[in-house]
Amino acid sequence: MRIIIIGAGPGGYETAVEAAKRGIEVTLISDGPLGGTCLNEGCIPTKTFCHYAGLIEEMRKAEALGIAAAPAFDYSKVLERKAEVVQQLQGGIAQLMKNKLITLVEGHASLKDSRTVIVNGEEITGDKIIIAVGSVSASLPIPGADLPGVITSREILNLPEVPRRLAVIGGGVIGLEFASIFKSFGSEVSVLEYAPTILPRFDVDLAKRLKLALGKRGIKIETAAQVTGISQVEGGLSVSYLAKAGEAAAQADVVLMAVGRRANLDSLNLADIGIEFTRRGITVDQNMETNVPGVYAIGDVLGQMMLAHAATFQGLRALNHICGEPDSIDFGIIPAAVFTMPEAATVGMTEEEAEAAGIPVRCLKSMFRANGKAVSMDDADGFCKLLVSEQDGRLLGCHLFGPHAADIVQEIAALLAKRATLADLQAVIHAHPTLGEVIQSAAHSA
Ligand code: NAD
Repeated sequence: MRIIIIGAGPGGYETAVEAAKRGIEVTLISDGPLGGTCLNEGCIPTKTFCHYAGLIEEMRKAEALGIAAAPAFDYSKVLERKAEVVQQLQGGIAQLMKNKLITLVEGHASLKDSRTVIVNGEEITGDKIIIAVGSVSASLPIPGADLPGVITSREILNLPEVPRRLAVIGGGVIGLEFASIFKSFGSEVSVLEYAPTILPRFDVDLAKRLKLALGKRGIKIETAAQVTGISQVEGGLSVSYLAKAGEAAAQADVVLMAVGRRANLDSLNLADIGIEFTRRGITVDQNMETNVPGVYAIGDVLGQMMLAHAATFQGLRALNHICGEPDSIDFGIIPAAVFTMPEAATVGMTEEEAEAAGIPVRCLKSMFRANGKAVSMDDADGFCKLLVSEQDGRLLGCHLFGPHAADIVQEIAALLAKRATLADLQAVIHAHPTLGEVIQSAAHSA
């Protein structure tokens, strides 16, 4: 068996490694660096920035805790460290690729038929093809969107200096993470979000409380704001928008466009071999197979959950189907995190989704300010909300923000996967004092 995988992000390269483990020959084709968006211009470099932002915030708090600290921040070190981290992890993937069953081909692929791909003028054939070509930043069709200084999440990771004023269009995951980071780095930050709340797909309770927490840090967030244009003014850029109170403008030196990402549908000649897709992404069945038998698609190019870990598990599902091995992966349970300060995380159903589905739920809440570990850490702004079915007591979701929210939510992901009930969770002993006890406190608030 031989598989061709197009794209070397966390969808493509992880699937290649897993396929090789199963004794399958793989040709992995990529026209970009190993690791894709996640490693080179997404999750990993952003988390390096987040780490610096966290250190700065800790040092700011240190003096009040009796530690004299005079932070001197050299931004160029952030860029150096980011490059080192990316290089180190890329080296790790390159090692994994040194497998006799994996052939790595650098070049731009095009599809010839359902078994053949052309790259660098040569034809490569396989029994199956997996498309994992990812996504690209979306932009707004507004005047001034192409002005110098209007950038995407790719360029913001390479700014030569910290902007004095940063305006962010889009209060989604990318927009808020960079708003939080650059606030810590010293920028004046404003966020303009079109929807009535930030993080429109998240639990509304969580989004409202997180907005307050970010506001307390001095990040100006305007929701229900319709951006109408960007213009060059003396000393910078001006972002005009329509808000509840009427027309307004945010002044900035740099404008981050963070209004979503779109599936990378233009990079392959999908229509030539009859692969069905919509404007949103490639259409697949539950096995990640497209309408063309033997051709699969995974990750951001589907336009569904644009998350690295979703791509990896979609790759696993495709591979399992190819190998005829059923699995129990539940794509309804995909935890997600927002690496703001404070951090937010979510898994399972939101209260709004439960309501829309007509499922009566009970919401159980706890606050980080009642958690001994969080208070000791001087990091107690946060809350945790558990959703439980009124009908059978089953856990349905968890939404929280606070220190290490992204790690804490994994416990609920595991319980959801096992269809656990509130009673099951209540019987689990949590170590004391730990941040994870916020889950226990919420569970016992019933
Ligand atoms: P997003 O969909 O999360 O957010 C885009 C935001 O822009 C939304 O809140 C939307 O309402 C807003 N918006 C749209 N049009 C607008 C307009 N005209 N004016 C103002 N606001 C407008 O997209 P993103 O933040 O760009 O992220 C892209 C993808 O990458 C997402 O799927 C996200 O989940 C993923 N991502 C994940 C992580 C993580 O897991 N930590 C980090 C970064 C990105």
